[in-house]
Amino acid sequence: MIQIKSAKEMESMRRACMISAAALRYGGQHIEAGMMTLELDQLMYDFIIRQGAKPNFKGLYGFPGTACISLNDTVIHGIPTKSQVIRPGDIVSIDVGAKVGGFNGDNACTFACGKIDMEAQRLLDVTKESLYLGIAAAKAGNRVGDIGHAVQQFCESHGFSVVREFTGHGVGKELHEDPEVPNYGTAGRGPRLVAGMTIAIEPMICQHDHKVKTLADGWTVKTRDGGLAAHFEHTVAILPGKTEILTKGWDEPDSLL
Ligand code: MG
Repeated sequence: MIQIKSAKEMESMRRACMISAAALRYGGQHIEAGMMTLELDQLMYDFIIRQGAKPNFKGLYGFPGTACISLNDTVIHGIPTKSQVIRPGDIVSIDVGAKVGGFNGDNACTFACGKIDMEAQRLLDVTKESLYLGIAAAKAGNRVGDIGHAVQQFCESHGFSVVREFTGHGVGKELHEDPEVPNYGTAGRGPRLVAGMTIAIEPMICQHDHKVKTLADGWTVKTRDGGLAAHFEHTVAILPGKTEILTKGWDEPDSLL
């Protein structure tokens, strides 16, 4: 069931999302070649705790980390470890969220460790732009399919592909609520977007084929063909006459809305 947030609940969402965005930016700023992904995870854990919030991924469905940290051909759900080292030229997806006041924030960004090659940069640029196109389609009166359609059209027009098995989602008291928000789809289809909904829009885009596999650890999702993948995510609020990016701060989105 889709949960509609009251004005008061929306304030709680803003706070949870503000901390989530700050944690993501903090993680991105601390990426360094030679660092273990678990070290980066620990930094974000400490940061979220210092804000008086709770890392909402930790323990959810049994996930061990504060953040999902996914390198290169890992699309999502990379488990932070003390053996995986971040290397120069890696693309590093961080997906992290915080819970405070009973509500959740959720956001993600794919960062570059040092200089990355042009094709990787193009994948990051296109995926990020597709997120803002998805957000622009996420307005009251539109349908969920309008979001996926906008993301898919744009990414495929640049020769990239959209992951099918994982989607965005409603977010609120629970990290994952209805509706599912696919990054592909048909305009004008799906549940209607109405004021008071808060949803996480999160394009997961592959350099080549969109097929993915989950490793034996039960979490790590990689591209089947070994191509790169990028992941950008904002939690947004559908409001009367406008859509507000609640996880603003790790980026400068205003000009695109
Ligand atoms: Mg999410």
